Amino acid sequence: MILIVDDKPENLIALQKTLEPRGFEIDTAGSGEEALKKVLKQTYDLIILDVQMPGMDGFEVAEAVGGYSKTSNIPIIFLSAVNVSKEFIEKGYASGGKDYLVKPFDIDILVLKIKTFVKLHEQNVALHHFQHTLLEEIEQRKHAESKKDEFISIASHELNTPLTSVKGYLQLAEKTLKQGKYDRSEMFISQSKKQVEKLNRLVGDLLDSTKIASGGLTFAFKDFDFDQFVDNTVDSIRQSYPTKQISCSGRSQRLVNGDESRLEQVLSNYLTNAIKYAPDSDQVYVEVAALPDGQVEVRVRDLGVGISEEKQQHIFDKFYRVEENAIRFQGLGMGLFICAEILRKHWGTYGVQSEVGKGSTFYFRLPSDAAY
Ligand code: ADP
Repeated sequence: MILIVDDKPENLIALQKTLEPRGFEIDTAGSGEEALKKVLKQTYDLIILDVQMPGMDGFEVAEAVGGYSKTSNIPIIFLSAVNVSKEFIEKGYASGGKDYLVKPFDIDILVLKIKTFVKLHEQNVALHHFQHTLLEEIEQRKHAESKKDEFISIASHELNTPLTSVKGYLQLAEKTLKQGKYDRSEMFISQSKKQVEKLNRLVGDLLDSTKIASGGLTFAFKDFDFDQFVDNTVDSIRQSYPTKQISCSGRSQRLVNGDESRLEQVLSNYLTNAIKYAPDSDQVYVEVAALPDGQVEVRVRDLGVGISEEKQQHIFDKFYRVEENAIRFQGLGMGLFICAEILRKHWGTYGVQSEVGKGSTFYFRLPSDAAY
C-alpha cells in the first residue's frame, strides 16, 4: 500500500484518482502528524510526501519515519511545487528521501518510479527476512553444535566409567582365580556383568536415539495383558535392585495393543530413574489404573530430589538434564526422550508431577482394548 501525504485535499484526491486505476492501493494523510501515526500502525511499501506542509514539513516527517526501525526502510518520494534549489533537493535526500519530483510532473514517470521503488522495497523486505532467518539458523546450528560437543563429552565419560570398572573387576577375577579364591572371582565376574549390562543399556539408548532421528525406531504390535506386563517389569527391576522396596497397587484388567518390550523399556526407565533420583529413599510406588475414558495408566512415584515446575516441561526433551543434579547423578538425558517417542508411537500420553525435595510421579497412559 502507498501512503500519500499532502495538506491540500484536492492534491490528495487527484493523485489517488490517478494511481488507483493503475492498480495501486492508496491511503492518504492530510498532515505530517497524521502520516506518522499511520506509518506506525500500518505497513506501507512507499510514501509520497508533499514537502511544504503547515506543522511538520515533509523533511521532518521523512526524518521521523527514518528514525523508527519498523519504518526506516520505507522508500519516500518527495513532491514539491517550489524550492527547487540544489540545497533543497539535497536536504530531501539527506532526510531519507529516495527521489525528489517537482510539480508539475509527468504522471507516467511517477508511476514508473513508484513501481521501481515498490519492487526494490519488496526485494529489500524479502532480503531482510531471509537474512533474519539465516542468522536464526546459524544461531540454532551453533547451539546444536555446542550441545553435540557437550553430549559427546558426557557420553564418552558415561561409557568409560563402566568400561573401567569391567576392566578392574576382570583383573581382580583373574587374580583371585589364580589364587584359587573361586567365591571372590565369581563375585567379581558378577559385578563386571552388571557393568556390561549398564554399557549395553547406554549403547542401546544411543542407538535408539539415532534411530528416532532417522525415523527408524521399529515396533512389533500385539495384544498383551497390561497388569501382567507391569508385574513382569517391576519384578525384573526388583531383581536388579534387591534393596529397594517397589510396591505395586491397582489393577487395570485390560489388554493393550503395543510393543511390549518397547513399553517395558519405558516403565523400566521410569523405575530406574525413581531409584536413581531418590538416593535417600528405598521406597518406590507403582500404581496401575483403568481410567473411565478407556485408557490404562501407570504412575511411578518416588520420594526423591524432585524437579522444579519450570524444568518439568523440558524433562522429556533430547539430552535434557536438570542442571543442578547433573553432577550428582550420572546420565545422558536420553532415557525420557526415548520413552516419549515410544509412547507417542503408541498414541499414548505422558507427564510428570513433582515438587523439589519431595519427590516425583511419572505417569503414562495408553489406549486399551477390551476388558477381559
Ligand atoms: P538421565 O537420567 O540419563 O539423565 P533421563 O532422560 O532419564 O536421562 O532423565 C532426564 C532428566 O530428568 C534427568 O537428568 C533428571 O534430571 C530428571 N529426572 C528424571 N527422572 C527423575 C526423577 N524420578 N526424579 C527427579 N529427576 C528426574
